[in-house]
Amino acid sequence: MAGLSLEHIGKTYPNGFEGVKDFNLEIEDKEFIIFVGPSGCGKSTTLRMIAGLEDITSGTLKIDGRVVNDVEPADRDIAMVFQTYALYPHMTVYDNMAFPLKLRKVPQADIDKAVHEAARILDLEKLLDRKPSALSGGQRQRVAMGRAIVRRPKVYLMDEPLSNLDAKLRVQMRAEISKLHDRLGATIIYVTHDQTEAMTLGTRIVVMKDGVMQQVDTPSKLYSEPCNLFVAGFIGSPQMNFIDATVVEKDGAVALAFGSNAVTLPDAKAAALKPYVGKVVVMGIRPEDVVEEHEYAEGKALSEQIDATVTVYELLGSEAMIYGDVDGGQVSAHISATNPVRTGSRIKVAFDVDKLHVFDKDTELAIVH
Ligand code: ADP
Repeated sequence: MAGLSLEHIGKTYPNGFEGVKDFNLEIEDKEFIIFVGPSGCGKSTTLRMIAGLEDITSGTLKIDGRVVNDVEPADRDIAMVFQTYALYPHMTVYDNMAFPLKLRKVPQADIDKAVHEAARILDLEKLLDRKPSALSGGQRQRVAMGRAIVRRPKVYLMDEPLSNLDAKLRVQMRAEISKLHDRLGATIIYVTHDQTEAMTLGTRIVVMKDGVMQQVDTPSKLYSEPCNLFVAGFIGSPQMNFIDATVVEKDGAVALAFGSNAVTLPDAKAAALKPYVGKVVVMGIRPEDVVEEHEYAEGKALSEQIDATVTVYELLGSEAMIYGDVDGGQVSAHISATNPVRTGSRIKVAFDVDKLHVFDKDTELAIVH
């Protein structure tokens, strides 16, 4: 297994379009790195440059300390798993998995050992004699993974490997891939546009937008301390609430005013907002940090009450989401399914001010978390 180093990596396509700009990342051995972002943000281009399927326009790529910018894909000791897992239909599961080793003229005994080992890891031992047509979608995807595993490459590159599967299977395979990472002790780089997949799989996540890396962090850090408005809005579902507010001084404290409402900041956040007094900022609060009156709890640093009218009620099971209008904006909140609030209810909510985020409206960068 191996670490990777991407130093100032850039990609300009022949038509002059810059797909990836100044990408810098050190990936350690055994990390599970996710590239996530909306379609067209440069995730696949970056992955394909690492694979050697796309030329690197600028910068240096190292695998295990060796510069590989000009090394052929076959000599980079990586394996790629794509969303279309093209298995050979006329070959058995065994032969599909053995194929990459046969191509490399690996001795038969070693092939046999590698295939059985991969089949054991992927729970495919009972299916080795079957043809792909007699397998479910998830089983086929596991065979495609097996074909990558048999080579025991230094790095696995996965490009949306689950996006062709139905929702239930995706969740199952997500857990499989997570287990696989533990068992292989492998370095994995995984591309997805799905923030849930990113949050559940990654040891670190790279969020990209328009070819530019926005933030690299652990899932929990990314969620609790997004560096800018884009990351804050992209990570987390349902999305973080954003409300434009004016920074005001109120009874010696600093508050965020919107409509007829004002939310006083705790001292820890107030200092960073002092220079913004009189200016408009963007206040961010996640739906689970908007607390409805029935659910006020001890121990939470709740803001002043805010009147709201519920416009949408969505029951999710044990929980529900409500969307409401407040003076000066809109908020969504998680509530318990036992909460009597429904569409049309006039309610009071309060924000957990310890969880409040504030962003600069011009630069969109976080001022305080
Ligand atoms: P993602 O994987 O994040 O969806 P890609 O890495 O595939 O995005 O593409 C990044 C950007 O580069 C997109 O805007 C895409 O249109 C552009 N792009 C991809 N391939 C080419 C190409 N061969 N020529 C010009 N532009 C390209």
